[in-house]
Amino acid sequence: MLVISYDLEVFTPPCSPGALTFSAIARLQGNIAPALPYLNAVLPNAVYNPGAPALVWKDGRRHVVFHADHLAVSNLEDRNAAVEQVERLVRLVNETWQERGQIEPSYAVRQRPTPMMLYKLLPGTNCRECGQATCWNFALKLGAGQVTVADCRPLADPIYADRRAQLLASVIEDQFV
Ligand code: SF4
Repeated sequence: MLVISYDLEVFTPPCSPGALTFSAIARLQGNIAPALPYLNAVLPNAVYNPGAPALVWKDGRRHVVFHADHLAVSNLEDRNAAVEQVERLVRLVNETWQERGQIEPSYAVRQRPTPMMLYKLLPGTNCRECGQATCWNFALKLGAGQVTVADCRPLADPIYADRRAQLLASVIEDQFV
């Protein structure tokens, strides 16, 4: 068993005061870095970053990032959901590690998104609410890690939910370090 126990912290992201969703961080007793290539192999659409090391995974509507000594999950309905999901994710890590003899590890890494890829997912209205003159400027800064997805407030509109999720999946590891 890789993860013996963990400390759980549940919070509302500071970039979204009053938000109706929660995030959670579980600080792990144990190093799960060796398990990340195995999780990369079994989780659909996971994105592995061996340099961090970290593994980003979109679990339905939730965003999960596995780090060596902690895991983070966002877009949780409430605190009970946080407890349940973290417990499920820890079980997933331990079971995957236990079964590693039957799994071919994957060291495939993601491509870093280009500013154009990020730009195409933004609303494209150049409204300046983010403090940038254009959405293109915002895309450049997002790619450089100088702003976060939450800084584009229009993306919180449900009509952009899918684009927002894609953006978060692209850059989420930088926001959970
Ligand atoms: S807030 Fe969003 S939509 Fe408005 S300019 Fe910035 S990136 Fe574009």
